[in-house]
Amino acid sequence: MTIRTMIAGFPRIGENRELKKQLESYWSNKTTFEELENVARKLRKKHWLEQKNRGIDFISSNDFSYYDNMLDTAVMLNAIPTRFRNIKDNAERYFAMARGNATAVAMEMTKWFNTNYHYIVPELDDSIEFQLNPEKIINEYQEAKEIGIKTKINIIGPITFIGLSRITNGKDPFVYFDNVLSIYKELLVKLEKLDDSLFIQFDEPILVKNPTEKQLSLARNTYEELALVNKNIKIFVNTYFEHACEAVKELSKTPIWGIGLDFVYGKKNLDCLDHIKDKMLIAGIVDGRNIWITDFGQALNILNKISEKVPKEQIIVSTSCSLLHIPYSTKNEPESEIKSWMAFALEKVEEVSFLGRVFHGSNLSDEDKKILEQRRNILTARRKSERVTNRDVSNRVKNNRLGFREGEFDERIRVQKEKLGLPPLPTTTIGSFPQTPEIRKLRTDLRNNRITWGEYESGIKKYIDDCISFQESIGLDVLVHGEPERSDMVEYFAVLLDGFHITKNGWVQSYGSRCVKPPVIYGDITRPQPMTVKWITYAQSKTQKIVKGILTGPVTMINWSFVRNDVPHSVIAKQIALALADEINDLQNAGIKIIQVDEAAFKEGYPLRKENISEYEQWAVDSFNLAVSTAKKETQIHTHMCYSEFSDIIKTIEKMEADVITIETARSGNRLLKIFRDTDYKKEIGPGVYDVHSPRVPSINEFKDQIKERLQVVKKSKMWINPDCGLKTRKWEEVKPALKNMVQATFEVRKAVAEYR
Ligand code: GLN
Ligand code: ZN
Repeated sequence: MTIRTMIAGFPRIGENRELKKQLESYWSNKTTFEELENVARKLRKKHWLEQKNRGIDFISSNDFSYYDNMLDTAVMLNAIPTRFRNIKDNAERYFAMARGNATAVAMEMTKWFNTNYHYIVPELDDSIEFQLNPEKIINEYQEAKEIGIKTKINIIGPITFIGLSRITNGKDPFVYFDNVLSIYKELLVKLEKLDDSLFIQFDEPILVKNPTEKQLSLARNTYEELALVNKNIKIFVNTYFEHACEAVKELSKTPIWGIGLDFVYGKKNLDCLDHIKDKMLIAGIVDGRNIWITDFGQALNILNKISEKVPKEQIIVSTSCSLLHIPYSTKNEPESEIKSWMAFALEKVEEVSFLGRVFHGSNLSDEDKKILEQRRNILTARRKSERVTNRDVSNRVKNNRLGFREGEFDERIRVQKEKLGLPPLPTTTIGSFPQTPEIRKLRTDLRNNRITWGEYESGIKKYIDDCISFQESIGLDVLVHGEPERSDMVEYFAVLLDGFHITKNGWVQSYGSRCVKPPVIYGDITRPQPMTVKWITYAQSKTQKIVKGILTGPVTMINWSFVRNDVPHSVIAKQIALALADEINDLQNAGIKIIQVDEAAFKEGYPLRKENISEYEQWAVDSFNLAVSTAKKETQIHTHMCYSEFSDIIKTIEKMEADVITIETARSGNRLLKIFRDTDYKKEIGPGVYDVHSPRVPSINEFKDQIKERLQVVKKSKMWINPDCGLKTRKWEEVKPALKNMVQATFEVRKAVAEYR
């Protein structure tokens, strides 16, 4: 077969999130595992045919998963943590690993490189008995074969697998490498029986992250060995999200069949094409993780450039990465101009197919000429559209000198302490309170016009009333309104800002059955009117205590959206920052004394390659500072970040002009907090003392211990007492006693506080 086009991987959650629904119904014992299997089988078949019918030569199997592909790989290797080994039933064990059960906590989850997809972190230790479980891979291959599709098999490569695993005994992860590699070899031996020839895509995205010498030589040896197992098994190593030049040099020395490179997010890959030599080059040319239509002219230019170094017959046109990161199809979106600018998974499949035909074909058919011309027209329309460019905004961004807040921190904090009159160790929360079924119903009812705005508003106000009076009753110092009007901290602002588009059906898998619908930033961003002032001032009117306003920062807005690709992130960030600066000004003029700008995604936005970090830090910090530049000396600015590992970035954090930072430390104790002391961090800190990810209610004594422990590291005069993060996913029955205990513990520690610095 001649292979001209390929898709790195296809979303599995289903056009109408069928997999999500079936999983959840199975988990709640409403349907059986057999029913789940049936739905899964139907989805796989549908997805294969969708790709085949669009003319794709090279379609994946094993890109499906009931939960996550890293978890599948762990199961394939039999890397089952001890606490799950007693579970006999395979499905039950699999989902217990992913989600925990009555006796065993779930395995950890973390973000897949710089995407918003979470994978399950494999746990390795000496007790693991590595052993091959190839059934899933074999079954899916044969299922596709039965409908006449010869797939390539997607497997996470051993270097990435080990590199992303957590070694629970503290050993070097690579002590387990040989064990793991021998299972991969065994797998190939097993698979060779499936067909006379076989194609395997090993995903090795870890090789784009400034690989060490050790990883590189490992890559070379590993693929040398794997390629030699059977010459009828054609192996290609797929990389994405950045260039992989260092690895290309090594891999080219091995007898593998091909190498996959990302030419959308790794333009530098163009510089290492000399090394491809006789290998197939899987050219990721269609953006697999953003939702814009491809500029065919530009894509063909890149392909032509590639073919100056690599013979055309060796080039396979592909997506830059798996389409897992984008929604299913735009065909379900309502008609609009913006729709014509977007391509989701199915449309990207068509694009790959088209580019393959044009690039590999000898001359253009009239039909294809027409498609090219149409595409040019749409792109021109987008470029010129008044929706996209707003002169006022671009002028404001251009003319804005980077604003700084008034006053140095020392001066600000002195004024603030005087004005705010808070006790030592002030208590607060991060913003959201439990999202109850009633609140969710209120929002859907409003969306579906089942209730009037007035009814909605009074429902929200009622929630705020209760939230304020609860916080007063337990004696918290700085209150919040509870964020009942926000479905999500990014979407809420996206709806209110111009320049953002909210899709109807643009669901993307975040983890397991959990899907998110990221907003789309398509144009210059403006704030037509205040976004939070009404709710916050309403809350403030209900209490004598200080109510803190809560906003979402520029980096987080960008990271959790699909971002326009026609201007740099730094520009978008500035536009959002200016909108926030106006909001902050309105809030303080309306009497709000403390404002928090959440930057939950600050750290995950870091580039994969070291050489790009300083540029990122520059615009990320600049945009934060621009956002808070309107804050007066006496307006206290907080920021919140959802993690506690700051050792690499503490100097950058210090440059952000916030007065207080709240972070997540309940699980890590002082271990990671010490960096603030060691670097003599000047500003105030609220290290979390309540783990919001657990339903457990800590006792007063536990809170006291947590607080006292923090006081070993953070000066009394600089410390706040708060939970790790927002409380929105918790229940009121958990939150009420927990916060009550937190405040009570603080009272008690305050009394004895003289002993601390
Ligand atoms: N203010 C938000 C909340 O409390 C912050 C959430 C977050 O950091 N992820 O929900
Ligand atoms: Zn958080």
